[in-house]
Amino acid sequence: MAEIINGKEIAKEIREEIRLEVAELKDRTGEVPGLAVVLVGEDPASEVYVRMKEKACQKAGITSFQHRLSAETGQGELLDLIDNLNQDPRVNGILVQLPLPDRIDEGDILQAIDPDKDVDGFHPVNIGKLMSGEEGFRPCTPLGIMELLQRSGNSPEGKHVVVVGRSNIVGKPIALMLVQKKEGANATVTICHTGTEDLGAITRQADILIVSAGRPSTITADMVKPGVVVIDVGVNQIGETPEGKRILAGDVDFAGIKEKARAITPVPGGVGPMTIAMLLKNTLRAYKFQNKLPDK
Ligand code: NAP
Repeated sequence: MAEIINGKEIAKEIREEIRLEVAELKDRTGEVPGLAVVLVGEDPASEVYVRMKEKACQKAGITSFQHRLSAETGQGELLDLIDNLNQDPRVNGILVQLPLPDRIDEGDILQAIDPDKDVDGFHPVNIGKLMSGEEGFRPCTPLGIMELLQRSGNSPEGKHVVVVGRSNIVGKPIALMLVQKKEGANATVTICHTGTEDLGAITRQADILIVSAGRPSTITADMVKPGVVVIDVGVNQIGETPEGKRILAGDVDFAGIKEKARAITPVPGGVGPMTIAMLLKNTLRAYKFQNKLPDK
């Protein structure tokens, strides 16, 4: 039976570390980091994510500046807001909740954010730095997966890691992070996608399998080798309770695979909580970087 990697507990531990560091900073300087959260429109899922992020900031002692704009907001107005946030010294990190309404060009908006305040790590400058292994902001979900692997005692060093999915927010950045020649990475990486012939033949070679496909049961027990470590990124609604609560499942067949794997993340309670913890961590890093303080 696999060990269940408790992302909720690990994220809690990290959030407490951040809270203590922010409190210490406040004692020393009278200042705390600030995160601006921009939401355009009334998408219910985005509303939930934004509220979770604001609550997490509050608990960590980070100031959150909320900018809720109507769905009719034009691109020019949004660019003006970002320009103001780029100049505002109280704002160390800027997060624009995606997706944006169709009329707005997401790429233009993400590129307008000052790369030094890009705590989501989606600016092309930060993507370039990730590619070349330079210091910069890394996207929160893959950063959270790296932390989860380290803190659960499943270092990817020297291991064959198979990543299923090549999205810009998970698949590609996690593969790039894993392949870096540095401590805590240094893995041999294979990326799979819908063009992969015989997915199971590749996933069965994985020492660590990271799945971000967005489809339940993409990976079944016959597609993994005994002793594998499985990180399930997927969040799929597979039903509703009689009380109207969402029933969620990941991308892997959890019940079958946990009998074969060495360790596995659950959904919910695995990768999800790590993403928000990493947003707080990136915001604190942004503050330290902008104030020329050393990063621990
Ligand atoms: P995405 O943009 O939809 O991309 C999915 C990727 O998986 C694509 O590259 C696709 O291949 C590949 N794929 C889909 N079905 C496949 C199959 N049967 N075999 C092989 N490859 C397959 O996905 P994403 O943004 O990475 O998100 C994936 C899942 O993670 C979603 O459920 C999302 O909600 C969840 N997620 C969770 C968090 C979190 O914080 N927990 C964060 C981000 C995403 P092609 O490129 O060939 O189409």
